[in-house]
Amino acid sequence: MRIGIVGAGMAGLACATALGSRGCDVRLFDKGRGPGGRMSTRRIHTAGGDIAFDHGAQYFTARDPGFRDLVNAWRLRGLVAPWPAAHPDAWVGVPAMNCVIRDMAGQHAVGFGARVKSLEQRQDGWHFRLGAQAVGPFDIAIIAVPAEQAATLLCLHDFEMARVALRARSKPCWTGLFAFHEPLATIQDTIRDTGIITWAARNSAKPGRDGLESWVVQAQPSWTEARCDHAPGDIAQVLLGALGKALRVDLPDAIIATSHLWRFAMSNGTGDQALWNARNRLGVCGDWLIAPRVESAWQSGNALAAMIARSVDTSALSAYRA
Ligand SMILES: Cc1cc2nc3c(=O)[nH]c(=O)nc-3n(C[C@H](O)[C@H](O)[C@H](O)COP(=O)(O)OP(=O)(O)OC[C@H]3O[C@@H](n4cnc5c(N)ncnc54)[C@H](O)[C@@H]3O)c2cc1C
Repeated sequence: MRIGIVGAGMAGLACATALGSRGCDVRLFDKGRGPGGRMSTRRIHTAGGDIAFDHGAQYFTARDPGFRDLVNAWRLRGLVAPWPAAHPDAWVGVPAMNCVIRDMAGQHAVGFGARVKSLEQRQDGWHFRLGAQAVGPFDIAIIAVPAEQAATLLCLHDFEMARVALRARSKPCWTGLFAFHEPLATIQDTIRDTGIITWAARNSAKPGRDGLESWVVQAQPSWTEARCDHAPGDIAQVLLGALGKALRVDLPDAIIATSHLWRFAMSNGTGDQALWNARNRLGVCGDWLIAPRVESAWQSGNALAAMIARSVDTSALSAYRA
């Protein structure tokens, strides 16, 4: 059973792992330059060395028993650590958030820098179009990307699925990344819901990090929505000012002050868990089908794998294995 997955974030990789363990031959394609998706880590070079910012997900919870088992296994391997300063139940990747995605991706055939522009269903199965080139055939096609991007790929093949994706509107998030030569004069490591800031954290205080003082500052969704077309440099300066104000400190000169716009940062869950069309063997998973959380993305990927295992002839899977 050949499976092609568009998107190698937590949902796509969780689905790949579950299907791979059932004997399927899985390939993933991701437009990103490297592993991470919305759990990515951005490295910026400075004269004092590289600084790694967790510029998407800040931490994750592990309340689902299956996910908790996986997180405990990661902890034993030194891939994650608890971060109680953020939340009693918070975990982070060590030494950077993307390392769990890197580890999962390392267990599969993943093509990075591979943007899937469209899907084609031919006589021999699904083919993914990457620019002029097409890859396939796949017996099953899986879309594991944010809702708006999923809708574009789905609309020609399953209008009802595309409608579900269109209803799950994602909110954007301007994220500021800042580094300083000296620690800021505060013992506070996190900020929640203060002024235009929805969340900010001293990135360098997370477990397993070292190096220069660094902060990640996320702006409120409504504030971001009104400023999606602003210049990143201008946004960085506003977020830097907001950080100083929220901490009530005079900030030293920043050696890094930049910003990133997540256009499809978070969407309230649709409650579907995952979508599966047994007739044309097309599936969809992603956090937006449950809730905007890392753990929900993992749950959605597993929910889709379970739907597929229930609906696809398991003897076909065994025959392929043989
Ligand atoms: C700023 C921010 C802060 C967050 N904070 C938290 C937090 O503190 N705690 C928490 O639990 N969650 C947080 N989240 C949410 C969390 O990051 C997501 O729930 C989770 O990472 C989603 O995983 P996913 O696999 O569903 O999607 P993604 O991680 O977005 O993966 C989708 C992948 O698909 C790829 N892709 C998209 N289109 C295509 C295409 N056409 N062709 C090929 N590849 C494609 C992308 O490159 C991406 O790698 C945050 C998210 C953001 C943006």
